[in-house]
Amino acid sequence: MSKPLQARIAAYTAAKEARAQGIYPYFRPIESAQDTEVVIQGKRVLMFGSNSYLGLTNHPKIKEAAHKAVEKYGTGCAGSRFLNGTLDIHVELEDRIAAFTGKQAALIFSTGFQVNLGVMSSFTGRNDYLILDEYDHASIYDGTRLSFSRVIKYAHNDMADLARRLSVLPEESIKVIAVDGIFSMEGDIAKLPEIIAIADQFGATVVVDDAHSLGVIGVKGAGTASHFGVDDKVDIITGTFSKSLASLGGFVASDADTIDYLKHHARSLIFSASMTPASAASTLAALDIIETEPEHMENLWRNTRYAMNLLQEEGFDIGATESPILPIYVRDNAKTFAVTSLLQQQGVFVNPVVSPAVPSDASLLRFSLMATHTFGQIEEAVEKIARVFRQVGVLELKERIK
Ligand code: PMP
Repeated sequence: MSKPLQARIAAYTAAKEARAQGIYPYFRPIESAQDTEVVIQGKRVLMFGSNSYLGLTNHPKIKEAAHKAVEKYGTGCAGSRFLNGTLDIHVELEDRIAAFTGKQAALIFSTGFQVNLGVMSSFTGRNDYLILDEYDHASIYDGTRLSFSRVIKYAHNDMADLARRLSVLPEESIKVIAVDGIFSMEGDIAKLPEIIAIADQFGATVVVDDAHSLGVIGVKGAGTASHFGVDDKVDIITGTFSKSLASLGGFVASDADTIDYLKHHARSLIFSASMTPASAASTLAALDIIETEPEHMENLWRNTRYAMNLLQEEGFDIGATESPILPIYVRDNAKTFAVTSLLQQQGVFVNPVVSPAVPSDASLLRFSLMATHTFGQIEEAVEKIARVFRQVGVLELKERIK
């Protein structure tokens, strides 16, 4: 390896330092299914760090669909959707997603990340504009880098800032505003009706990433546009199958011409192999369940309300969340790592979110609910978090839990 590269690699010490202190929180191998309890190093751990909001990743009907797909189609498609890698169940899934999101057509990719890479890089050129909320997901930001377009960031959910930044852009340029429907770390919801009104005023197109919204908000879990009753006013919806839909893959939904355009321009679709048969079939089975069994979403919200109340009663700072993603602010990187590691020792899995993902005074534990958690599990986790916060000296808690 070349000396300059060796030097670059040697200069990266953060992970080694965290390991030496015994607080390294990433790549923790799980020895069981992604359920409300998982097994790590042979020990039972309560899972409060999962995106399986509806708790469907170990559902017997979905597993059966995956097994059957492997029997029928084998384990992989060995090619891109564009060429030899399109199966009939890919097309069936596209039709189902179009209907679910209320759009004319949909296109599925192998991951949600690839969807945003493809969508953000396909529409605009050098003299056009991509306008992003500062808290948008990394895949949206990374997609803009493939576009050669000008990228404008506005303050999180700040509609005056969005309007001000759009108002100075040339009328003839293409302008695409992209937002997370539910923000992935903070758990708040994009102000979609206002964004649409501003987009109309300045001639912009709106993309909403519903990765965390599908199965969570909207009529039967149809997402953010449905939640606000503006289904027909959002131009483009993107999303993933790796969260509520219990699988792997992603989609973009829009009018038929836009989808046809993307089919022939999105390089992360064209130059990458298609979703595995098992992933496509399990997503279809998850959709069946979401569409016919509303109790999963109801349970998710029952648990979310219960956890929100409990955390707030205990005096935790959970920001402005409006979803099953509850940020528990620590506001210090080192303490966030320490708390995460102590919690795992005590049998609770949560995710640390630290700078540069968020500003260091906004570092947090990302605590997320599943439909299948019990109140007892939530109580146990909150009690342990309170104890560990005291131990580490996180001060936001009320006097009475000291
Ligand atoms: N968008 C958002 C808002 C996300 O949070 C994520 C994943 N965390 C993605 C896109 C990417 O989805 P996938 O996991 O399917 O690549």
